[in-house]
Amino acid sequence: MTERPHDVTVLRGRVLTFHSEPQGPDDTASYRYIEDGAVVVGDGKIIMIGEFNPRAAAHHTVIDHRPNLIMPGFIDPHIHFPQMQIVGSYAASLLEWLNTYTFVEEQKFGDPAHAARIASRFLDELIRHGTTTAAAYCSVHPQSADAFFAEVIRRNMLMLGGKVMMDRNAPEGLRDTPQAGYDDTKAGIAKWHGKGRAHYVISPRFAITSSPEQLEMSEALAREYPALHIQTHLDENLAEIEFARELYPNLRDYLGIYERYHLLGPKTLLGHCIHLTDREVEVIAATKSVAVWCPTSNLFLGSGMFNHDRMQKAGARIAIGTDVGGGTSYSMLRTLDEGYKVLQVQGQRLNPLRSFYLVTLGNARALGLEGRIGSLVAGADADLVVLDARATPQMALRMEAVDTLANELFLLQTCGDDRAVAETYVAGKAMKSALAA
Ligand SMILES: [Zn+2]
Repeated sequence: MTERPHDVTVLRGRVLTFHSEPQGPDDTASYRYIEDGAVVVGDGKIIMIGEFNPRAAAHHTVIDHRPNLIMPGFIDPHIHFPQMQIVGSYAASLLEWLNTYTFVEEQKFGDPAHAARIASRFLDELIRHGTTTAAAYCSVHPQSADAFFAEVIRRNMLMLGGKVMMDRNAPEGLRDTPQAGYDDTKAGIAKWHGKGRAHYVISPRFAITSSPEQLEMSEALAREYPALHIQTHLDENLAEIEFARELYPNLRDYLGIYERYHLLGPKTLLGHCIHLTDREVEVIAATKSVAVWCPTSNLFLGSGMFNHDRMQKAGARIAIGTDVGGGTSYSMLRTLDEGYKVLQVQGQRLNPLRSFYLVTLGNARALGLEGRIGSLVAGADADLVVLDARATPQMALRMEAVDTLANELFLLQTCGDDRAVAETYVAGKAMKSALAA
């Protein structure tokens, strides 16, 4: 073989990757599992995966992660980076929480030094929890997106994000104007999109904080940049829905607002989707928009419970995210655990194969980034997580009685958190151990 990358590293461990959506708890055809496996990485990419071969590995650096699992890095498709310091703020419901804490906190991000400090801590926290890609809302200030992407590029992470556009129903320090929101987003796209592994996202925060003129400007941006993602919130809380409908009285429902401005489509991420009408479910499915389920947030704010089976039956695309700081944990394992319980009380099931599919390949597909992230295939970016199901004394004891891969995954999601993340690789580089050092 010629032209081999010079920095080839062999990661040895129990390798697990999905290649299709599991159809049930025993769907062994949906994934590939290699007991003594190797992920060969070089120049930030996966070169190959397969059985560990001592002879082939002899000339390369080998990092032995056995008996831990090597999987694609986790993907979080809904998170707010300026909300790190309000996680766990005591409030009765969404609108109170926004007005009392969030809209106060986010005003700090007009200060570039503060934005830079939090952006750095934010990416550290994601790495600590095994999350290698996220779709992040920044604050209204363009400097918050600048701070975010500067850190993203410094770490060579594949991240999506954008400054939120919001021009009403928020304090003055958090309002832009339709024109400023448009101009700043355009400037942000020119500055950051496609740089390193950065993806700029068109981000009208939600219907309540955007005037019709601002949604028109969002529509103009979406038309000018059809390759870009759009992120916003939908049907999270009953009072929010009532307010949104008062603001747009002539439209059929909440989703009808985004529909009116042509903001729906396969690149659109709709956070929450809790209280949907039948029509809204149909339109989400028909437009191939993505419903992003955020269980820790929905429970914490008392917003409601995501009806997974209804969405699945309708053929809607589903992703799962944290929604920190309404969400209470950066951990996709904690998120799966809460998600599991949200479905349990509704008489629905989330089997462990589907869980781990969702936070890897499922979320990658939701973002349209499969092949690049979310699975361990040759040519994909080498963004990986190494999971230790014996990370705590109680997990180690419990593992003594675990005899299947599915049960190990279920233990990881039920009892695991950042302690179960033994290592996180970003573009082939070990990043979690470097944080601790
Ligand atoms: Zn959110």
